[in-house]
Amino acid sequence: MGSSRLLRLLYTLRPAEFGLARERCAVCGSGWLLRLARSELGVRCPRCGASAVTQSLAGVIRAELPGLGSAAVYEMSAQGPLVAFLRRHAALLTTSELLDGVELGESRDGVLCQNVERLTFADASFDLCTSSEVFEHVEDDAAGFREVHRVLRPGGRFLFTVPLHDSADTVERTALRDGRRVELLPPMYHADRYRGATVLVQRDYGRDIVGRLRNAGFADARVEQPAQHLFGHARPVVVAVRGG
Ligand SMILES: [Zn+2]
Repeated sequence: MGSSRLLRLLYTLRPAEFGLARERCAVCGSGWLLRLARSELGVRCPRCGASAVTQSLAGVIRAELPGLGSAAVYEMSAQGPLVAFLRRHAALLTTSELLDGVELGESRDGVLCQNVERLTFADASFDLCTSSEVFEHVEDDAAGFREVHRVLRPGGRFLFTVPLHDSADTVERTALRDGRRVELLPPMYHADRYRGATVLVQRDYGRDIVGRLRNAGFADARVEQPAQHLFGHARPVVVAVRGG
């Protein structure tokens, strides 16, 4: 989350929803938590700007990887509080974005271009892969999960967030018909720093996400509730472990 987004939130501040609490930020260690609006993006760390989603992911990363200081990490974004956190705490950090008009594995303005369906990294390159609000946009998420599994070392972990829905089955919002992707449900978009406000949501994940990860090769997959309260906006984090 950038500061401009935080500023936009400040402009739309509703005093009735404002709140301040003593709670440690898992991203930067600040002891305060701010609520600008009653939403997971409205709950922010006043120091680093991390949202409730980012703080949830960082909390579970800290709990799952006590050895983060010696880990090689791949994060599927190139900016923001989570990247700053990983840069500070991991031994080695690789970041990327999906950039239009850039070859996979090439960089533009220092930002590496990767498509998670076809990563250019060698097998067993990382101890930890992370992503936040990425996989609901990936057309072939099974291919993406298989790629993350491939680039993880044995025993490595994939920790990520996606919007999780309280349904047994994932609902695909698009489908491939005669080589063309067609919409099965009214299109829904999320904003992306590099690609604008036009990134289509491909699916609404249900509880079967853990089965989808196991089908892609992961030995174990579960959904972890973060320890933080975050004004009731703690976001479950998906944890998938590559077999040893
Ligand atoms: Zn913080």
